Amino acid sequence: MPSPQKIIVIGAGIIGASIAWHLSRKGASVTVIAQQTGGVATANSFAWINASWGNPEFYFHFRRRSMAEWSRLKADLPDIPLSWCGGLCWDLPEPELDAYAAQHHGWGYGIQPVNRATSTMLEPSLVNPPDYALHVAEEGAVEPATASRLLLEDAQRHGAILLSGIRVKSLLKEAGRITGVETDEGPMRADHVALAAGAGTAALAASADIFVPLETPPGLIVHSRPTRKLLNGLVMTPELHMRQTAEGRVIAGSDFGGTDPGNDPQVAARELFAKVKAALKGGEALELDFHTVGYRPTPKDGLPILGRVETVPGLYLAVLHSGVTLAPLVGLLAAEEIADGREDYQLAPFRPERFN
Ligand SMILES: Cc1cc2nc3c(=O)[nH]c(=O)nc-3n(C[C@H](O)[C@H](O)[C@H](O)COP(=O)(O)OP(=O)(O)OC[C@H]3O[C@@H](n4cnc5c(N)ncnc54)[C@H](O)[C@@H]3O)c2cc1C
Repeated sequence: MPSPQKIIVIGAGIIGASIAWHLSRKGASVTVIAQQTGGVATANSFAWINASWGNPEFYFHFRRRSMAEWSRLKADLPDIPLSWCGGLCWDLPEPELDAYAAQHHGWGYGIQPVNRATSTMLEPSLVNPPDYALHVAEEGAVEPATASRLLLEDAQRHGAILLSGIRVKSLLKEAGRITGVETDEGPMRADHVALAAGAGTAALAASADIFVPLETPPGLIVHSRPTRKLLNGLVMTPELHMRQTAEGRVIAGSDFGGTDPGNDPQVAARELFAKVKAALKGGEALELDFHTVGYRPTPKDGLPILGRVETVPGLYLAVLHSGVTLAPLVGLLAAEEIADGREDYQLAPFRPERFN
């Protein structure tokens, strides 16, 4: 029997965790190296799972496929805090909401126009329910840091090694091939390196002369103290995106990507939280517990960067925004490509070579 392939995964956010979990299930010999287990963007995400407006059709179908893959992961790891709570959205002018509904309905999204009475029934705590909104029952949310931890723990049960608190300084490149990584604690060799380091991806790729066009805009999210049930699902208003976490915290940004923290994040957090309080019946009793600022790993064209780098064998890139929505599918397809050499046709638009 051939010995299993040795694979290093750099990063233990939701993307690295999902890749490592899928690889370990295939019997690969996996070592995850990360400065921060649970991730950087992942731990500070809004974590809405969706295939909502603003994306081309091929990307819609990719996102929707990943939504289904979340249910598969949940069946394997039932403790994952995943909720198909539905999303109520009126964050666009009415003609654009109509165009979004018509387009996505045509693509097969479970999207329903709703009036004020139905909005009130869905979210009774809204002070000002919309006269017209769209409801997508199949949207949901997950608590992403817990999901990452559960994936990593299960990967470890299947033989993966997790090296936490270790910084990768550079990729090792020999005779044009990636052969491992140089870490704070010395070099480590592998047959393949999967680079899933979120906002840290571009610097590590550059160490092997690979250009990854990545922006890392900050996004601030406010978290209330845990409170009684105020929100049943995701609520996307023109000014606020909100949901209530499994722990009972109401979390919000001015949109799902968070609020611009500006020069004074404390002030931005207080102003944002005041809007949350005003938006909810009983909101005056809400207390701001803390805010987070996450840096969103966002490829320049907004689409995921997924796949081998053709000119540099031994390296697999996985860097994307909407990583919470896409983690189960990205992990599955990356593991199939790395371990089995099997390419999925839906990955074609996301290849690193598109920037050449
Ligand atoms: C405010 C905000 C709101 C968001 N809202 C949503 C949303 O609603 N829906 C959605 O789908 N997505 C959302 N996203 C995006 C999503 O959270 C990210 O796409 C996803 O978390 C990226 O995961 P990741 O594992 O790639 O990166 P990260 O979670 O950032 O993890 C990166 C990992 O790499 C490690 N690392 C980096 N550099 C090194 C190094 N040199 N050496 C060792 N380790 C290293 C880090 O320690 C960490 O473990 C949001 C993000 C933010 C910040």
